[in-house]
Amino acid sequence: MPGSVEHFDAVIVGGGPAGSTAGYRLASAGVRVLLLDRAVFPRDKPCGGGVTVRGARQLPFSLDPVVDEEVTAIDFRLRYGLAVRHAYDEPIVLMTRRSRLDAYLLDKAAEAGVEVRQGARVREVLPHPTTPEVRGDGFRALGTVVLGADGANGVSAAALGGGPVPWDAIAYEGNADRSLYPAKEFDGSMLFEVGTVPGGYGWIFPKSDHANFGVGGWFHEGPQMKTHLRRLCSAHGISMDDLTGLRGYRIPLRGTGSPIAGRRVALIGDAAGVADPLSGDGMFEAFTSARLAAENTMAILDGRVRDFAAYRRRLRAEIGRHSAVSWWAKLILERRPALGYKVAASRLGGKLFYGDVRGDRVVHLPLSPRMAEAIEGAARRRLFSAEAPSSR
Ligand SMILES: Cc1cc2nc3c(=O)[nH]c(=O)nc-3n(C[C@H](O)[C@H](O)[C@H](O)COP(=O)(O)OP(=O)(O)OC[C@H]3O[C@@H](n4cnc5c(N)ncnc54)[C@H](O)[C@@H]3O)c2cc1C
Repeated sequence: MPGSVEHFDAVIVGGGPAGSTAGYRLASAGVRVLLLDRAVFPRDKPCGGGVTVRGARQLPFSLDPVVDEEVTAIDFRLRYGLAVRHAYDEPIVLMTRRSRLDAYLLDKAAEAGVEVRQGARVREVLPHPTTPEVRGDGFRALGTVVLGADGANGVSAAALGGGPVPWDAIAYEGNADRSLYPAKEFDGSMLFEVGTVPGGYGWIFPKSDHANFGVGGWFHEGPQMKTHLRRLCSAHGISMDDLTGLRGYRIPLRGTGSPIAGRRVALIGDAAGVADPLSGDGMFEAFTSARLAAENTMAILDGRVRDFAAYRRRLRAEIGRHSAVSWWAKLILERRPALGYKVAASRLGGKLFYGDVRGDRVVHLPLSPRMAEAIEGAARRRLFSAEAPSSR
């Protein structure tokens, strides 16, 4: 272990959407931040690249420079058959490419004053009570706080005892050149194929010069993902062999009850396992958890609080209700896909979807965070007990 140890106010492990936006917020407020990422940017990340308007609204700056296409309509289809389109006057999702989006967000952090080190793989996070430590190949850094933003396969979650859970998800995707997939009707529209993948769905997302084809579902469904993607492609008239950049990645769904914060270490984004269980989207949750963890970090540095307890509470309060509703919607889609489709296809379904992805409150659910957590747990237990042991 090398001898020299550096000290920062905040050390952030990982420079994806969660880490870079937390860094941006902290450095903008004058905090001395070190951000370490094992990759050299621009780097890609398996992802559909769809940022909901709700997610974009979390950010203190615009994503316009890296938006490929604005989506204003969604097609829901049931098992490659029945289909319905909801079209809207305003955008619902901003389509980006992760290589460009993440490089842009990291540049924003660096411009704000974050000391960014790329190609710096962190091996271990040690959650000492007052000055947690980050160790990597050839470096050690101490922080008054450490934010673990190293995604699904990082090392930070282990520092707090978090790991994969049975209801984790996996997604697999690739890109079709627009000339292979010229269907005009998909300009400005994204498609969800429901009832096609256990624990998930298939999607087609429009990008300016290509369309992103993907499937996602339960983690144990991983070995079947190629078959599911092949089927999605053939249902839309292309061969899976024509897709480029095929890749898959885990989406941790640890839920709000799992350890996301110790005294001076907090997990944000996928490291915290807070992605939406229904859609698999995680960027809204990455931006939200980054904002809340940054605010709690400021309170620790100012001496107003001693730990990340408020972060835990506020994250549960901000995303707990949504997460509970998503788990129940997932349960319905799993058990009764035709009913789930009927709701999604209805006028009310279209309205609820619009409000949800834009972050406008359509229905007020008077649930306390504790009630939301209990309701979420009940859906998860039902879903998981419904899984056949042989398929695990
Ligand atoms: C196929 C697929 C499609 C998806 N589509 C969407 C979508 O359309 N919209 C959406 O909102 N969400 C989508 N998601 C989820 C979304 O990709 C994640 O929720 C999001 O990337 C989480 O951001 P993050 O910053 O927490 O983690 P990441 O984006 O994974 O960033 C983590 C960073 O940490 C770095 N890192 C990891 N380990 C270490 C280490 N040991 N040392 C140093 N650095 C490390 C990595 O290099 C990386 O840069 C999708 C996921 C998958 C798998």
